[in-house]
Amino acid sequence: FGGGGLGPRARLDLARLIGRIARHPGAYDGDRPEETPAGAATVRALARRYHPDLHDYLLQPLAGCCFGWDTARSTAAPMLSLLAEVGPPSGWRTYRDGMDLLARRLAGTVDVETGRTVHEVVEADGRTLVRCADGEITARAAVLAVPAPVAAALRPQAPPEERAFLDACTFSSALKVSCLLERPLAPTAGGRPLYLLLTPAVEEDVLSAVIADHVKHPGRAPRGRGLLTLMAAPGTVPGLLDSPPEETAGRLLAAAERYVPGLGAATLRTFVHAFPHALPEATPRALHLRGRFA
Ligand SMILES: Cc1cc2nc3c(=O)[nH]c(=O)nc-3n(C[C@H](O)[C@H](O)[C@H](O)COP(=O)(O)OP(=O)(O)OC[C@H]3O[C@@H](n4cnc5c(N)ncnc54)[C@H](O)[C@@H]3O)c2cc1C
Repeated sequence: FGGGGLGPRARLDLARLIGRIARHPGAYDGDRPEETPAGAATVRALARRYHPDLHDYLLQPLAGCCFGWDTARSTAAPMLSLLAEVGPPSGWRTYRDGMDLLARRLAGTVDVETGRTVHEVVEADGRTLVRCADGEITARAAVLAVPAPVAAALRPQAPPEERAFLDACTFSSALKVSCLLERPLAPTAGGRPLYLLLTPAVEEDVLSAVIADHVKHPGRAPRGRGLLTLMAAPGTVPGLLDSPPEETAGRLLAAAERYVPGLGAATLRTFVHAFPHALPEATPRALHLRGRFA
């Protein structure tokens, strides 16, 4: 969030934006994003006060890649609160064995059943009934840890204030292509390999980022090999969700060649991962209704 790639005027405006957040310590609270001084302004609307490059070359690429957002639809408050909480990229950390480390550790302490689809969760006689394809489970309570649109469909009896938020809490879709490389190629800046290259929508319409997983952590690829993740730009995702995987991978690989020359020739295998409900949007309406839901 340092704005290293920005020109002097946009950097100055970034300092103004950071100063604005710093002047209100505690006001940008990720647990209460509906109460920040940024109100319900969308990222794009908030950025209008600043040099256009701040939106085009920093806020939009961050929102597009890390949040899956269209900056004209989602509000700035949750993003600014989160960025204020996590601090500069130099302090960001990654799990040594991948994102699922925490989930796997927690799973080791409880009974876990996977591959069992829940169709409905209803309350009856003070108990919770979880209806699955192959039967029912009765419990004192159930936690629905699924994307909001799925929770809305699973829980027809949700009370009105919960239903209003669940309906407003729309999700973006995401799609990424993992590329297994015969050598550790990566995007570079000043000759140094980058673990994350955000590609602004004003410059690039197929990708939102190129992530070099082996630069993030060497354990992510066998020695001498590489693993690259190509993130599709939010605007292209809906059109790609139903495309044949080879076609999708080919399209993203061709676009990424610009940032990682030789990528196509070095790619041994690709995997396409689609997330129809990837990340929550934060529209003004969802932000407005969140407080009563939480
Ligand atoms: C492409 C991408 C990259 C990301 N990268 C990062 C990152 O680098 N760092 C980071 O911190 N976060 C990242 N995130 C965000 C992170 O993945 C999510 O915040 C996190 O996974 C949310 O966890 P969750 O348990 O709430 O939901 P989920 O991970 O969505 O888990 C919900 C689970 O419910 C299951 N489910 C859904 N419907 C049903 C049903 N009817 N019956 C039974 N089970 C059901 C699903 O199969 C899924 O396993 C990324 C997200 C995406 C999409």
